[in-house]
Amino acid sequence: MSQTCSTTEPVRTCVGCRSLRPQSALVRCALNSDGAPLISRTAPGRGAWLCVGKVACVQQAMKRRGFERAWKRPVASAEYEELRFAYEAMMANMNN
Ligand SMILES: [Zn+2]
Repeated sequence: MSQTCSTTEPVRTCVGCRSLRPQSALVRCALNSDGAPLISRTAPGRGAWLCVGKVACVQQAMKRRGFERAWKRPVASAEYEELRFAYEAMMANMNN
């Protein structure tokens, strides 16, 4: 992941802990064309942002229905599981 020193970096709110952070400190969760959740910065559509490296934020987002709010549609528990799995897999990759 590239680090930028831009002062104009957009900030987003984490759907878990609700804190405002620069985009580089967050990951973007979106829905693919089939409506399945995925972690992608470039996928079209609405994005739900989560802090990098804080699995607690995924759990908080589940509890607070942060994804439902961001995507404006119901999110099944199986989809939450899928997201959490993708998030954890991504964190594991980043630590390598
Ligand atoms: Zn967070």
